[in-house]
Amino acid sequence: MANGDAHFDIHQLAELGFPQSLPDFQRLFPDEAACAAYLELLRWPDGFVCAKCGTLAAPVRVSKRPGVLRCGACRHDTSLTAGTVMELSHTPLSVWFWAAYLMTSQTPGMSAVQFQRQLGLSRYETAFQILHKLRAAMVRPNRDKIGGKVGEHIEVDETWVGGKTRGEGRGVHHKTLVSCAVEVRHRQPGTAHDNRKDGRYAGRVRLAVAPDRTAKALCGFVENTVTTGTLVVTDDWSAYASLRKRGYNHHAIAQCGDPDEAEAFLPIIHLVFANLKTWLIGTHHGVSHQHLQAYLNEFVFRFNRRYYPLNAFRSLLGVAAAAESPTYAELYSGGWEHPTFSRSM
Ligand SMILES: [Zn+2]
Repeated sequence: MANGDAHFDIHQLAELGFPQSLPDFQRLFPDEAACAAYLELLRWPDGFVCAKCGTLAAPVRVSKRPGVLRCGACRHDTSLTAGTVMELSHTPLSVWFWAAYLMTSQTPGMSAVQFQRQLGLSRYETAFQILHKLRAAMVRPNRDKIGGKVGEHIEVDETWVGGKTRGEGRGVHHKTLVSCAVEVRHRQPGTAHDNRKDGRYAGRVRLAVAPDRTAKALCGFVENTVTTGTLVVTDDWSAYASLRKRGYNHHAIAQCGDPDEAEAFLPIIHLVFANLKTWLIGTHHGVSHQHLQAYLNEFVFRFNRRYYPLNAFRSLLGVAAAAESPTYAELYSGGWEHPTFSRSM
C-alpha cells in the first residue's frame, strides 16, 4: 500500500461512519491509492483471496496500476472495480469517489456543469457520463418490502403530482396519481425529538405511479411494497376496504371528506408528500408523466438513506454489501435510460 496512514483512516471510516465535510472527505481519500485501499477493504474485509486459484495471501501491487491486485501464486490480475459503476472507466477512482460524495451529500443533486467545475474536469462529457451512471444506481427500484416490524405501522395514501403546463389553456391538466407507503416509527420517550408528531417519524418509503384509484391499483401497490400482516392505516376510501382480505391488518380512518382530518391522522405520509412535491418543483421544475417513476425512485433512494450517507455512497459506486445492492451489470440490465436528465442537470 502506497500510504499507510490512508489505510488507517479508511479502517476508521468503516467504523466511524461518513465524513461530514469536504475537507474530511479529502483527507480520507486524498489519492488513487487511498480509494483503491477502500475498495479492497470493502471487497475483501478478511484479506485478499484470488478468484482463480483461491490463494489467501497479500496480493502483489503494481504501483502504476493501483486498481489491480495480482495473485502472488498464479499471477492472475483482479480488477478492484469489477462489478462496480467504475468498471472499465478511464476516469480516476478519486474523481468517482468525489462525484458519489457530492451526489449523496448535496440533497437536491447538481447539474453536470456544476459537477464539471467542482471536479475540475476538462470535459463536460465526462461529468455528464459520471452523473448519468451514478444516477442510474440511484433510480434502481427497491424490490424488498417494507413493514413487518413489531410496534410499527404503515401509512398508505395517494396524491396527485404535477399540474399546469405553461403555454397551455386553462383546465389542461397533466397531474399524475402517485401511491405512497411509509413506515411510521417511534422515537424513544424522553429523547430530544420525541415531542414532535408524538415522537413519530418516517422510516422507509415506497412510491409508485398509480394508473387510477381502483382497488386493483391501490391495493396492488400495497401488495407489491408492504409485507403482509403489517398494520396498514389508510383513509376511508372504499378501494382500500379489501386490504384485510389480502392479508393485512387494516385500519381505515374516517375523514368525512375533510382533508385536514386526513393530515391529522396520517401525518407522516403528508410530510412525505410535501417533501416530494417541493423536491420535484424546486429541483426539477416539474416532471413529465413519462419520467415520473424514475424521479420517484431517486426520491425514495435519497429519502431512505437520509440518515445513512455512507450506505448511499457505497450504493452509488456499486460497492455496497451484496444484499444491499445489485452489481452494475444487473443494474443496467433493466435498460434504464433517461435522456431528459441533460435538461434538469
Ligand atoms: Zn491465484
